Amino acid sequence: MVSEFDLIARYFSRPARTAALGVGDDAALIRLTPAMELAISTDMLVSGQDFFPDDDPEKLGHKSLAVNLSDLAAMGALPRWALLSLALPAADDAWLAGFSRGFLGLAEAFGVELVGGDTTRGPLNISVTILGEVMTGRALRRDTAVVGDDIWVSGEVGGAALGLKYLRGQIALSEPAINACLARLREPTPRVALGRALVGLAHAAIDISDGLLADLGHILERSHLGARIDLAAVPTAPDLLELPDLIPACALAGGDDYELCFTAPFGHRSLILAAADAVSTRVTRIGVMVPDRGLQVLDKQGNSLALPLTGYDHFGISQPAVDW
Ligand code: ADP
Ligand code: MG
Repeated sequence: MVSEFDLIARYFSRPARTAALGVGDDAALIRLTPAMELAISTDMLVSGQDFFPDDDPEKLGHKSLAVNLSDLAAMGALPRWALLSLALPAADDAWLAGFSRGFLGLAEAFGVELVGGDTTRGPLNISVTILGEVMTGRALRRDTAVVGDDIWVSGEVGGAALGLKYLRGQIALSEPAINACLARLREPTPRVALGRALVGLAHAAIDISDGLLADLGHILERSHLGARIDLAAVPTAPDLLELPDLIPACALAGGDDYELCFTAPFGHRSLILAAADAVSTRVTRIGVMVPDRGLQVLDKQGNSLALPLTGYDHFGISQPAVDW
């Protein structure tokens, strides 16, 4: 049976590289780059709510950091340091080895240093705080979209929600589709390089964690504007194209894709395509920002779709949107 301190030393302490002082003291010390603002975000993953208790710990380690990296991507910030708070029912070596491998592997891939955290006994709960840097005044925010802006989405949406439907036994999928959708659900790729490349090009941005329309809705609300979306233009996960009835529920309202949705002026179209190409990320224009509040989704015939436009809401009366 390992002690709390052995556990931290074994699985989570690594020599400090960029931090002035890393894991092991009462607080970490970091040195900020002049002319940069600190971007800070935290996300909690609760067993039974945000993941299944028997999920592969390595993938959970990846995802718990990935969702935080995604928040900094949406700000156009460079992730640099992370804190990890864990409540664990028991000191299970196999679980900890897998979890730390997934977490630290992704941290390494993004040059992020784990500088501290907290470890306690309790129902499985994972909370990560991420710290990053962005040039002062240049962060991508939700409240800065402008009328006439194009609305863009990175990658493809709907795959993660399709994977969740499969896990819940609501649909059948082919073997390759299962693999692709579960990878989207459990091992999202945070769009950090794209977010950074959009600084100075995009007006507003958000990451898609709760569903495209729900998250775009936050930009609309904070920017006091509306949007018109062309459903046929929404880049949909290939496996979802074979289940067209599920496109609204999965691509528009399904969460967990961790793509970026951003707005940018018409005049930046070619610069945005070039910036996205330079970071090998697909970006697609799906609509336009309009002065009138509300979110309109048009089908191929130009008819407005009647959709309940709520995404996932932990305290909502309705079930998660992916359950429609
Ligand atoms: P304190 O009692 O001062 O809160 P702790 O005993 O909780 O300190 O933690 C000891 C050190 O280990 C601290 O530097 C803390 O940041 C770090 N730490 C604790 N848990 C984790 C974890 N899961 N991942 C990374 N660092 C951790
Ligand atoms: Mg502590």
